[in-house]
Amino acid sequence: MASNGYRNGTGTNKGAIKPPASSNIRSSSFKSRLPPSSNHSTGSALRRTSSASFTTAAGGDGVPGRVRVAVRLRPRNAEESTADADFADCVELQPELKRLKLRKNNWESETYEFDEVLTEFASQKRVYEVVAKPVVESVLDGYNGTVMAYGQTGTGKTFTLGRLGEEDTSARGIMVRSMEEILANVSPETDSISVSYLQLYMETIQDLLDPANDNISIVEDPRTGDVSLPGATHVEIKDEPSFLELLRLGEAHRIAANTKLNTESSRSHAILMVHVKRSVLGEEVAIPSESDKSSHFVKPPKPLVRKSKLVLVDLAGSERVQKSGSEGHMLEEAKSINLSLSALGKCINALAENSAHVPIRDSKLTRLLRDSFGGTARTSLIVTIGPSPRHRGETASTILFGQRAMKVENMLRIKEEFDYKSLARRLEIQLDKLIAENERQQKAFDDEVERINLEAQNRVSEVERNFTDALEKERLKCQMEYMESVKKLEEKMIENQRKHQHDGFMKDKCNWEGPGFSEDIAEVKKLLEKEIHMRKEAEKEVNKLKSQLGQHMDAGAGGDAEILKLQIALEDEVHQKKKLEEEIIILRSQMLQLTFEADQMRRCLARGGSGNAYPGLDSPMSQVRDSLSGHKTPVSALFDQVGVQKILDLLESEDANVRIHAVKVVANLAAEEANQERIVEAGGLTSLLMLLRSYEDETVRRVAAGAIANLAMNEANQELIMVQGGISLLSTTASDAEDPQTLRMVAGAIANLCGNDKLQATLRSEGGIKALLGMVRCRHPDVLSQVARGIANFAKCESRASTNGIRSGRSLLIDEGALPWIVQNANNDAAPIRRHIELALCHLAQHEANAKDMINGGALWELVRITRDCSREDIRSLARRTLNSSLLFRSEMRRLRIEL
Ligand code: ADP
Ligand code: MG
Repeated sequence: MASNGYRNGTGTNKGAIKPPASSNIRSSSFKSRLPPSSNHSTGSALRRTSSASFTTAAGGDGVPGRVRVAVRLRPRNAEESTADADFADCVELQPELKRLKLRKNNWESETYEFDEVLTEFASQKRVYEVVAKPVVESVLDGYNGTVMAYGQTGTGKTFTLGRLGEEDTSARGIMVRSMEEILANVSPETDSISVSYLQLYMETIQDLLDPANDNISIVEDPRTGDVSLPGATHVEIKDEPSFLELLRLGEAHRIAANTKLNTESSRSHAILMVHVKRSVLGEEVAIPSESDKSSHFVKPPKPLVRKSKLVLVDLAGSERVQKSGSEGHMLEEAKSINLSLSALGKCINALAENSAHVPIRDSKLTRLLRDSFGGTARTSLIVTIGPSPRHRGETASTILFGQRAMKVENMLRIKEEFDYKSLARRLEIQLDKLIAENERQQKAFDDEVERINLEAQNRVSEVERNFTDALEKERLKCQMEYMESVKKLEEKMIENQRKHQHDGFMKDKCNWEGPGFSEDIAEVKKLLEKEIHMRKEAEKEVNKLKSQLGQHMDAGAGGDAEILKLQIALEDEVHQKKKLEEEIIILRSQMLQLTFEADQMRRCLARGGSGNAYPGLDSPMSQVRDSLSGHKTPVSALFDQVGVQKILDLLESEDANVRIHAVKVVANLAAEEANQERIVEAGGLTSLLMLLRSYEDETVRRVAAGAIANLAMNEANQELIMVQGGISLLSTTASDAEDPQTLRMVAGAIANLCGNDKLQATLRSEGGIKALLGMVRCRHPDVLSQVARGIANFAKCESRASTNGIRSGRSLLIDEGALPWIVQNANNDAAPIRRHIELALCHLAQHEANAKDMINGGALWELVRITRDCSREDIRSLARRTLNSSLLFRSEMRRLRIEL
């Protein structure tokens, strides 16, 4: 904040001081001076004042502040340096004394005192700090503030206010520096800054941010005296670059407007208005409550919005005030400029002299500055002067203007208003809270009422229950007592009767025969008899009912037992039947197996073959032939009788023997192509794969693998096996099985899958190829033969895909490291192995991408050997063709001097 007492400045100087005669200058401190026109006490920080202020709405508490005036001297320019080389400057500055001497002639000068005297060496930064910074700070505090530059054209008004300092930031003027300070001090969340930029020319206000908007009117609030320009463009400013851009735009529009009007900017006033809106919280206020004067409740701080405005005015050249006499447009213009500037001068004079009438309405400029200059704002005026003695007159009049302005005292008022919006928001929130609280309480109340109701109901029903119980007890008791007394009475009567009889015979008879007594007795007796009769009747009835009940119960119990017995018998029967059925199935399947084996034997004998239990692996044609032979085999016939589902069910039998037996049957059936579809349809493939997974017995596993191998000959089944995860299952079995026959079956199954074009990628990704190659660890020729067949099948599919352009690149077999084994076994003694490998080599060689690896791996020699030694003519010629069609093989053979 300004440290130099600007805010509370209480004095003003009295104008020109004429040294050396005026020895009454005791202090250079402006603050200690009393203004001649007021009698305020020195040092009073805050006071009410009725001092001059041309605002009509300056009422209320405020802080008075005098217009602060600084003078700035421009250095000589090039022209002056030469033209006035022999002459001294028209002014002499004493900045430390804040004085300026205006030379009248070589020996006489007048001295003036200012708030600041800025020499030609004063930096822009210093100028800002002494002239504008205090104003900007008070704008941030909520006061209006104005900085004006007044002076002859060419003395540096625009230099002081409007320089952008784009190349050299130290050259930035007051406008840019003020904005920088404002931006640094406001909070972007709660505060806002907007800017209007205007030009006042010939009593017309033009919008420099929107050139089409060229006649903006001034609106004055009669209540507050605030001046506003609702027609002007307001641009929200968020950062410095956007402000600079806006100033540039305004300047461009100003030049364009002035070109159009055929004038210069020095003839117009440029006005930048910065509107600052800040949210603040008022103070908490303690208010005594109505009922109890001693207790206070604290009112929460009020949300307030502080609106203030910084007005920066680059006035038109002051020389126009004096110089007139131009003609036509120029004359009009001069008058206009005269009008505004001279009206400003007149107002300042009136204010300085505390005159009753201040002619603010005389011009647009004074109307516009009504609340800034001599109003309710803090105001700084910088008067700019040049050093040239040629403009002495102009300089003198500028200095006098500044001197008069120093006498003007403003009444500062903070511009705060309720932030009704945020107050309303807060009240709404509070209301919401109260409503919610009320709802909560209402709910609690309702709950409580409900609870009490429930409790009351419970109590009432409990009391009712107790009452009923007690009543019942009482009733029973009464009944018992009644019965008791009847019983006693009866006994007594019997005794009396006895006595009477005895006495009658033995003693006085007439005692009993008195007419009244005997009647009574008879009466009682009758009653008693009736009572007894009734009771007997009731007892009879009860007994009857009891016996009936008993009968019923007996009958029911007997029936239940009978049903239970029957049920048990039935269950036994069902169990028996099931067992028998199972046995039948087992027997039938055993028979099936035996028939099958006999069938096999028969066939073997007929063929003189090896007795292969699972045909199809090496000669898939065998069963095709059988199935095509027209009539059904006995096995199939049996199969029809038993039904596939029943046989498959046996795979899950609890009896291990049955399971083994069943899997064998299924495997045998699966060997016949005719049965395969039915087995698969009935879920046989899934069951077999399950068996492979839940491995428990080598036989089961071997037979299941065999069955899968047979089913795997069919293309549709191959895909089904893949879908059901069969490849990885077979691969796992391949790696953990030891039994050569199991391995042979697994290898056979994989070899079949290898012949399917669609399964190539899955076979590799699920470890099928690795598993196949891994099985060569078992040296059994049957296993090796299946491995070789699988390799040949795979290579064949690959070469087909390559030829069709579906695949490219090296063989997956080579990738998986199959080549060394292939080369090693290419000349295996076992004919089936050799044959498959020879074919595999031919297939691999057909694709050029494999040639390099094959040459390096020694496969070329084997191929060459095949062309020469192979027993089969077709394979020999295939190998030859293949070698001849490969560039790489040909060149290698040339290199090795091999001729086919
Ligand atoms: P005005 O706006 O008062 O007509 P300008 O600000 O346009 O005057 O200044 C006129 C010339 O003087 C410009 O070339 C400006 O750069 C130069 N000038 C003004 N004040 C200074 C200063 N304090 N130091 C250096 N050059 C200045
Ligand atoms: Mg200028």
